[in-house]
Amino acid sequence: MKIFRYLSGGILLIFLLFGAVVLPGAGAPEQKEGTVSSPEGEGAKDEIQLYSVEKRGWIMTRKIYKTAEEWKRLLSPEAYHVTEKQGTERAFSGAYWDHHEKGVYRCIRCGNDLFTSDTKFESGTGWPSFRTPVSEKNIDTRIDRSLFRERVEVLCSRCGAHLGHVFKDGPKLAGLRYCINSVALMFGK
Ligand SMILES: [Zn+2]
Repeated sequence: MKIFRYLSGGILLIFLLFGAVVLPGAGAPEQKEGTVSSPEGEGAKDEIQLYSVEKRGWIMTRKIYKTAEEWKRLLSPEAYHVTEKQGTERAFSGAYWDHHEKGVYRCIRCGNDLFTSDTKFESGTGWPSFRTPVSEKNIDTRIDRSLFRERVEVLCSRCGAHLGHVFKDGPKLAGLRYCINSVALMFGK
């Protein structure tokens, strides 16, 4: 039975060694120091790559994190309701559904380039509608199961602002319709 004791001792040793090697790695994501919000409430962290229309290329910047209270202070009540509370502006009420100038539509909260006038089209819905975003990296999408149906929510990838939804009934070829609230956007020529 001596051999048995050695064997179980060996297994225990292997387990301890294995655990010592694996566990610190598993805990690593929590060990990011210096990425917490700054005292000024700036809260910027996490570098991301975004496409800049002005620079015609990729830029590195940081994500923006603010609390709902901070956004409430910074935004108009309408922009706060839409971007932070997943609200929807009334159809045909916003500044951009019938807007035809050439330029860039940026995020109202962080200035991230989201859509260009080149991909804007007349959807007849009363909300500004686009075929594609500036780049897939400039937006995020997630499933939205509110209102008893499944839709795909569109968000700003830099600050998490709710922008609107994307539907699969857009013009060919991609067939997508990014249905975006005017109040979440800021137009620049
Ligand atoms: Zn944003």
